Amino acid sequence: VQEKLNLLKQNTHNTVNSLLDSMALELASKVDTKIANGEEIGLLEGIPFGIKDVYMVQGTYTTASSDLLKNYKSSYTATSIQKLLDAGAIPLVKENCDSFGHGSSSENTIFGAVKNATNPDLVGGGSSGGSAVNVAKDFTTFSIGGDTGGSIRQPAGYNKVYGLKPTYGRISRYGLMAYASSTDCVGPIAKSIEDIRIVLNIMSGKDVRDQTTFSSEEILEDTVSNSSTIKTIGYFKNFIESEAISPEIKQDFLATIDKIKAKGIEVKELDFFNADILVSTYYTLAMAETASNLSRLDGTNYGARIEGENLKDTYSITRSENFSEESKRRIVGGNQVLSQGFSDEIYLKAQNLRNQISARFSDDFNEVDIILSPVTPANPPKIGESLNDPLAMYLSDAYTVGFSLGELPTLTIPKGTETGLQITADKKKDVQALQFANFLN
Ligand code: GLN
Repeated sequence: VQEKLNLLKQNTHNTVNSLLDSMALELASKVDTKIANGEEIGLLEGIPFGIKDVYMVQGTYTTASSDLLKNYKSSYTATSIQKLLDAGAIPLVKENCDSFGHGSSSENTIFGAVKNATNPDLVGGGSSGGSAVNVAKDFTTFSIGGDTGGSIRQPAGYNKVYGLKPTYGRISRYGLMAYASSTDCVGPIAKSIEDIRIVLNIMSGKDVRDQTTFSSEEILEDTVSNSSTIKTIGYFKNFIESEAISPEIKQDFLATIDKIKAKGIEVKELDFFNADILVSTYYTLAMAETASNLSRLDGTNYGARIEGENLKDTYSITRSENFSEESKRRIVGGNQVLSQGFSDEIYLKAQNLRNQISARFSDDFNEVDIILSPVTPANPPKIGESLNDPLAMYLSDAYTVGFSLGELPTLTIPKGTETGLQITADKKKDVQALQFANFLN
């Protein structure tokens, strides 16, 4: 634990306000004492981990990498994190990310851009960039990211580690700062499938504080054996034939498909919605939901407050001065699509498209067990290169957002293409995605 804390101290870009030193060392010494007394310790006891800074951990800063909350301390602990603490895992660090999860590069943060683990000139990916880089560099054994439209899977791919967005509802969102509640998912980033499985098992399950959770005792006893249940996989032809995909990623993905065929698995080409439909549906809904969720940050109850002439001024100045440009763009966009005269035309249309997307997934999973896709159409950009081009940034999410709208379990593995491979299974079949990843290993 001390060694990893030291490493984190030398790499402050992955960290928000401060490390959780004293909590971590105290917990670690308890585990040491248990070992010294010859007591048995659990699977996760003493294992150091990191937490994307959008999770409440009582008494620690929870900043969402934003000016608005930079001095805010949590008054309670998220269910997912509490389960890990109960299992004896040791939290080291709250991790740098795109502010409120708004972004795909971890540059939209007051703590400085997160640098890619393999090439520090490139972005770390986002929004859970600090988490993926910490795992890639062995500063944490695993980290807990958050994925609304790709924020675990994409930085995992950019930094060549494993990252799982579980089925929506498998892990409680209680204590995860809400971005877009209808697709927000808690999930692990780690260096092996087995680590992903262990952490997922511990965090899963019904929580009375999140009514979208389901009980999941049935899952994940053994992913190592039994990949033989997967007979047929599919991939979306239009993802691979799109103009946006880089020739290398396309070539590598098709080579991976050939290898899978050679192993005796049937592969089907599937039709799917185009990237522009997926991206615009996702961003319409995500912006609407974030406008609503972030309305609570008005300088009254939490975080920064800049006093104006009257209450309305106070709201307005506090929010204008403290939200990032990107978050403001989303709040304004979200309020627009929800407002009278626009909501039928835009917001309801996006809801309708989301239903069609889900229905298409249901049909697809009658034909195939797994859907494979690249994680991103292109390699990570240089730091600073895409920050001022929001549309390009949104389009880089083309391959991740659809699975979020479908509430499906999707795993990034560091194989198959330069930025990884996404393995998606049907709802609640997270175990199949892990099994197929094992099969490819
Ligand atoms: N890049 C996507 C967005 O900005 C996804 C982010 C996320 O999953 N938090 O909305």
